[in-house]
Amino acid sequence: LPIVAIVGRPNVGKSTLVNRLTGLTDAIVHDAPGVTRDRTYRPAFWEDREFLVVDTGGLVFDDDSEFLPHIRQQVMSALSEASLAILVVDGQTGPTPADREVAQWLRKNETPILLAVNKCESPEQGLTLSTQFWELGMGQPYPVSGIHGSGTGELLDEVITYLPPADDHEPDQETRVAIVGRPNVGKSSLLNAFVGSDRSIVSPISGTTRDSIDMVVTRNGNRYRLIDTAGIRKKKHVDYGPEFFGINRAFKAIRRADVVLLVVDVCDGVTEQDQKLAGRIAEEGRACVVVANKWDAIEKDNYTIYEVEQELMARLQFIDWAQIIFTSAKTGQRVQKIIDLVDMAVTQHQRRVSTSVINEVLEDAVSWHTPPTTRQGRQGKIYYGTQVSSQPPSIALFVNDPALFKDNYRRYIERQFRKSLGFIGTPLRFFWRGKRAR
Ligand code: GDP
Repeated sequence: LPIVAIVGRPNVGKSTLVNRLTGLTDAIVHDAPGVTRDRTYRPAFWEDREFLVVDTGGLVFDDDSEFLPHIRQQVMSALSEASLAILVVDGQTGPTPADREVAQWLRKNETPILLAVNKCESPEQGLTLSTQFWELGMGQPYPVSGIHGSGTGELLDEVITYLPPADDHEPDQETRVAIVGRPNVGKSSLLNAFVGSDRSIVSPISGTTRDSIDMVVTRNGNRYRLIDTAGIRKKKHVDYGPEFFGINRAFKAIRRADVVLLVVDVCDGVTEQDQKLAGRIAEEGRACVVVANKWDAIEKDNYTIYEVEQELMARLQFIDWAQIIFTSAKTGQRVQKIIDLVDMAVTQHQRRVSTSVINEVLEDAVSWHTPPTTRQGRQGKIYYGTQVSSQPPSIALFVNDPALFKDNYRRYIERQFRKSLGFIGTPLRFFWRGKRAR
């Protein structure tokens, strides 16, 4: 979605105006204090246009009316991705030296700017108050009242003329990501470390229930919907016992997801609860990445990562096809890399393999290891296989009699498929089908 950046000094009424423009109460934003500290992205509509409004945070000035370098940087990066910026000034105070400095600086940017003169509570007042701002050299001042809403319609009419054509901006289909794990493994710390960075686009979106908040993040042009982030954050404020696991909430998130990030604590290893979640992920056929967090907290040498990986995966046999990544939410180590593994898992989850390739794999597997023969001399025969669906990839194997293929052999065939075709990060399903009775 196109982005409209809101810029201005503190106390000019930026957030009231943002609330007006986005028509949202700020309740949702407060749900995610850590995440929205730097910048908040909120969906807005006007006419038939949808866009995001980002509050760049106050332009804070030091005593010399210079605005601070890190704020400058933050505003710069907000502007660079915006189609348009709105400079908000205070009509009641009139133009200040700080306004002049900001205006001068903004004019050097490529991003088009509209000037909104806030606190103009009536049209008559608006006219007199706003005319003082022509001197900023930002073109026509738009009188508005964040509190009463007057003038905002005119401003929005103007705003949408700057947005790029709608169809260019339909993002690719979004990937739904659930972050699950036991309490205290670091889910919310990871979420903060992940979306807290400067490159993130975050907008909290109501999920299925009132207290389930999804968050949409874009990276490299892809959209990721982080499912039920409220479930991750809320826990702190609720007085559940320390052992409260919220497994049903996790199960629901898994059900809604394409990919599940199963977060485990490397200090504790894989517990029974982790295994329950892993089992559910496999049953539901979701793609998965195992995030082994708190990697900073253990002593290690060059071999530790391999040893720990083996240890963890040995206990995660339901999802032994998943990739594992060792992270530290505390130091940020590899946190941004998680998304790469998510992308890989999604690709595999959606993958389709041609019937000819499947049959090549099958032929090869059968040549190495022929299907078992019963004592009565009946031998299993695989006629052919074909992929019947994806997400997860599901393969039907047509055989003479499914009863002739016991678990051992079935697992062997599945292993051969993984060996030949990979499918890292996604479960596979196999349907053993007998010949239809004629
Ligand atoms: P959640 O319940 O899974 O959301 O876990 P939190 O994010 O609340 O983290 C639980 C505790 O573990 C907090 O005290 C965090 O500071 C700490 N923690 C989280 N991630 C890390 C990490 O990567 N390394 C270390 N050393 N501590 C962490």
